[in-house]
Amino acid sequence: MQAIVLREYGPPANLKWETVPAPSPGPGEALLRVRAVSVDLFSIEFRSGRALQVPLPRIMGHGPAGEVVELGPGLESSGLEGPGAGALSPGQRVAVCNNITCGVCKYCRLGRETLCEGLMNHRGGMIGAHRDGGYAEYVALPARNLITLPDSISFETACLIPNTIAPVLKACAGRARIRPGENVLIVGAGGGMGLHAVQAARACGGRVLAAIRSDRTREAALEAGASEVFSTSERDMAEEARRFTGGAGVDAVLDIAATRETLAGSLASLAPAGRLVIMGYFPRGGVLETPTWVFTEEVEVTGNRSAGRQDVAEAIALIENGRIDPVIGAVFPLKEAAKAHAAVEAREIVGRTVLTV
Ligand SMILES: [Zn+2]
Repeated sequence: MQAIVLREYGPPANLKWETVPAPSPGPGEALLRVRAVSVDLFSIEFRSGRALQVPLPRIMGHGPAGEVVELGPGLESSGLEGPGAGALSPGQRVAVCNNITCGVCKYCRLGRETLCEGLMNHRGGMIGAHRDGGYAEYVALPARNLITLPDSISFETACLIPNTIAPVLKACAGRARIRPGENVLIVGAGGGMGLHAVQAARACGGRVLAAIRSDRTREAALEAGASEVFSTSERDMAEEARRFTGGAGVDAVLDIAATRETLAGSLASLAPAGRLVIMGYFPRGGVLETPTWVFTEEVEVTGNRSAGRQDVAEAIALIENGRIDPVIGAVFPLKEAAKAHAAVEAREIVGRTVLTV
């Protein structure tokens, strides 16, 4: 089969189009014919070696979408069981939940599978990082990571669900507990994740103030459903949050930028009982001071790391009923993965970038 292979961490040019042996599904696995896979910040950080380092070569590509073509030993005609799970069979269209969880640790038992103890070691890990992913025509994956797709959702859309739409939905509904009518500040609203966070906050009933860095994403943030947009290079975040809410402050902040400067502004933007959700994945020198009013006004500071299978299923439902409308800024053929990475890294594209296979 054809695949994009990473043999050395480094610039986009290190993504090589090669002929490699096609995988075959092991016990409990299904072979997927990949149709689409997204390029996001994690892809860029992983390729460069800044995210985490695993032995190379590696076929990257987390959260691919595609069709089941073969079931491994033990799966026979049905890999998934239980009401609503859907039978897994050849021809089935699926999205892929990216975390390979152990299912037995304390966090898996608690239903907090994104904190699974196996995620960063040999017992589990992330598809496209700890094991080969979707930058290929075929990939073999654990059947329990596959979630069936309705025909109304395209593969290009589906590959945005596990690592973009499901995480922001989990952040809004789960971590920030946004209630109808609440005021929500999205920091980094113009990015690929931010535009979907605006939509997810709206889907929860929130009224959204969008903080962007670059003015060229202003229109996209408004189209995503923000009531107002401001640039963090021109305005003070906490002042904007007070003005937007008649002086009260916002009920929730999703800080996707998560820099030293934005975290301080995010915390200062909260109303009493407000919730700050930190979504920056990579350390960038951010230091959060917790002034006395974190105590006196009972604000909450929490994080949001990736998404679980139920979040993926709920994101699929919200897309299917039209409450979230995925924003795809560019589509490249897989063969041009290096070009796509360079464009994303240069921040040339508004919305998510997709590779089709
Ligand atoms: Zn676990």
